[in-house]
Amino acid sequence: MSKAIQELSQVRYEIPAPKVARIVMNRPAQRNAQGTVMTYELDAAFKHACHDDEISVIILAADGPHFSSGHDLGSSEPLMPTIEESAGLWGQYEAPGWESRYSREKEVYLDMTERWRNAPKPTIAQVQGACIMGGCMLAWACDLIVCSDDARFRDMGVDMGAPGVEFFAHPWELGIRRAKEWLFTCEWLKAEGAHQRGMVNHVVPAHMLPAFTLDLAERIAAKDLFALKLTKEAVNAAQDAMGRRDAMQRAFALHQVAHLHNMMRFGTVINPSQLQPNLKAGVEARRVEPAKA
Ligand code: ZN
Repeated sequence: MSKAIQELSQVRYEIPAPKVARIVMNRPAQRNAQGTVMTYELDAAFKHACHDDEISVIILAADGPHFSSGHDLGSSEPLMPTIEESAGLWGQYEAPGWESRYSREKEVYLDMTERWRNAPKPTIAQVQGACIMGGCMLAWACDLIVCSDDARFRDMGVDMGAPGVEFFAHPWELGIRRAKEWLFTCEWLKAEGAHQRGMVNHVVPAHMLPAFTLDLAERIAAKDLFALKLTKEAVNAAQDAMGRRDAMQRAFALHQVAHLHNMMRFGTVINPSQLQPNLKAGVEARRVEPAKA
């Protein structure tokens, strides 16, 4: 069962204009790092907005200077959702071997992001500052992306010994060659570059970001909601007919190969050797004795 909207602690739910819901990540001190609590609070907020007949458009925003630093790798929160929290039916979050990790990543990262991507109402990501790895997944799950001119995007998967994040939308967001270069180099993609490549709809000055995004949301919310839902479904179906979902499932399997390899080699799910010190400490705190296979 999801939390009631007034019980959320890391996510704020607002109605900034008629027919518009705004879901705001509010862990600015942790750069809105997404742990299990935030994941299921986001899900509760999306579910609430989708089931509120008075809401037509959903904005996903973030407090503080940065949209999201990605998944919370150093979190002290429980890694696994409870059965009550979990949105899917896969289960086995405590199973031995790789089963628990696979089950968790499938539920929390792949299937959850896919679930939000398929939320029937139009969604708009409002992105400022850094948007890293899991943060990109959150932005990509939305139908439209508006970002400030200081926004920048990064997936350092290769530096972690893995082929990018679990929700592998990169080729769809950037095109094939640009996705490869971005992933191979692990470099920042700045707002203007993301705009040129079609990954974001609009780049606006930072001080105008909330107002611009809300205005866009209100213009869409003025339309007939059922027509909007059918239109979203039709465009998503076109993308899926191009093989998006199948390709993403395969990338997820490769991502799991990388985690397993790193676990056997380093005793951690990601290769810690090229990580920044603070990230490395969080990862190494979870080191286990590498398997002798
Ligand atoms: Zn992973």
